[in-house]
Amino acid sequence: TIGTDLARTLSRFGDREALVEVASGRRWTYTELGRAVDEVALGLLAKGVTKGDRVGIWAPNCAEWVLVQYATAKIGAILVNVNPAYRVHELAYVLRQAGITVLVSATHHKTSDYRRMIEQVRAESPVLRDVVYIGDPTWGGLLAAGAAVPQSRLAECEQTLTADDPVNIQYTSGTTGFPKGATLSHHNILNNGYWVAETLAYTEHDRVCLPVPFYHCFGMVMGNLGATSHGACIVIPAPAFDAATTLQTVQDERCTSLYGVPTMFIAELNHPDFGSYDLSSLRTGIMAGSPCPEEVMKRVVAEMHMAEVSICYGMTETSPVSTQTRRDDDLAHRTETVGRVLPHIEVKVADPASGVTVPRGTPGELCTRGYSVMLGYWEEPERTAEVIDAARWMHTGDLAVMNDDGYVRIVGRIKDMIIRGGENVYPREIEEFLYSHPKIADVQVVGVPDEKYGEEIAACVILRDPEDPLTRDELARFCRSRLAHYKVPRHLDIVDAFPMTVSGKVRKVELRERLARDLG
Ligand code: ATP
Ligand code: MG
Repeated sequence: TIGTDLARTLSRFGDREALVEVASGRRWTYTELGRAVDEVALGLLAKGVTKGDRVGIWAPNCAEWVLVQYATAKIGAILVNVNPAYRVHELAYVLRQAGITVLVSATHHKTSDYRRMIEQVRAESPVLRDVVYIGDPTWGGLLAAGAAVPQSRLAECEQTLTADDPVNIQYTSGTTGFPKGATLSHHNILNNGYWVAETLAYTEHDRVCLPVPFYHCFGMVMGNLGATSHGACIVIPAPAFDAATTLQTVQDERCTSLYGVPTMFIAELNHPDFGSYDLSSLRTGIMAGSPCPEEVMKRVVAEMHMAEVSICYGMTETSPVSTQTRRDDDLAHRTETVGRVLPHIEVKVADPASGVTVPRGTPGELCTRGYSVMLGYWEEPERTAEVIDAARWMHTGDLAVMNDDGYVRIVGRIKDMIIRGGENVYPREIEEFLYSHPKIADVQVVGVPDEKYGEEIAACVILRDPEDPLTRDELARFCRSRLAHYKVPRHLDIVDAFPMTVSGKVRKVELRERLARDLG
């Protein structure tokens, strides 16, 4: 279990640094972290939390988030990660759907007045018994209550636990629709964090900079569990992503590893002061979560000292990682593919309709199987059965191609595929091509309804320099010589920003809906 794994790390690396919160300057060694986790765990027991109870966490990244993650695991509670961007309507839904009895939150952060929103929904959330706010007297109250509980209760809790018990309900990003709560076990996420860290060759000397939200598995599994499984140090640069603070943290904390979704790396590389930070301590890191543009990967390798940077592919439902590039992959495989399958997991590329494996080199739906596949969507057996088949294959909804050596390329989501006049068009391919246009900083390609062709191709573009416009004809001319005619975008939409999820993904559904409205 997660508790016994942390205990093993403590016994080996007790004196080494485990956790740093840059904003406050607070630091914990592994011994101190173990003690702090126990205090929170005892506090939760004092609040009457027992095995299988759902404890929600609704807060930006902070040290207490990490303590609550391990404390709930230790006592067999199920941690429910609540998206920090949620507002009252979604909060009420999650509280009800997951049956959260104790909620840990922050009083406020930037535009989120958590306390006010919680007070607003409390009346309609009858199972919610208790709310604890980090950084407010209720947090001290939790610890004080725990001080009266005998330490031996923790060992008793451990004895009732098995590795297959659920430890986490993790909502998907909601990129393609309403988020689904993936129920994950100790076995699921502990092993996944371990293998991701093993692939990066983490040791107790690594310091992992985590600007990615803990609410999502990128932060809490690949980040926190990965680091603690190998005695590495978790470094929290800020409550929420900020490019300059992240770069400053890498420099000041001598981080060896840096995580981010592609948009975070883009923001760091394009920051006006990028060149002034000393990033020479970096060795590795992870880019993941959405398609990782080759150009960006190459710049990360060349300009950020991250020669061993790794791409991970995965999804919340699979704990999350299924494939990953490795240390000894060459530059082409490192930047153009999502690597090969992790140990103890299977992947196949299959015809979405028949489920039959397609030949290597042919696009099909990526399916995965192994220890990493979730227990199911929380209290939604029908939706679970739609994605996990009788042979336990998880159908990812992503289109992929596998080459003869087992390297996987993600072509795009099935839902995003454009069918124009009977031709399958993969937005990803056009996006990769358009990134090479000198005026384009960022681009998303979507299908919009069209009377003649069923769907037409639209490019939504963020310009490098808003003063230097790009016309539709100019774009068409750029594409025509190098793309098949049916892939050339017919519509061009210049925007300042894309609609995003909190985990940093572009909500193509929203782009598509808006364009369909504007054009129709
Ligand atoms: P929802 O399921 O709610 O619509 P989501 O699928 O974005 O949202 P997540 O589980 O956070 O929720 O994300 C998993 C998805 O992210 C994958 O199915 C895939 O489409 C995409 N993805 C993750 N990593 C990569 C990667 N390295 N390259 C391309 N796509 C990726
Ligand atoms: Mg999904």
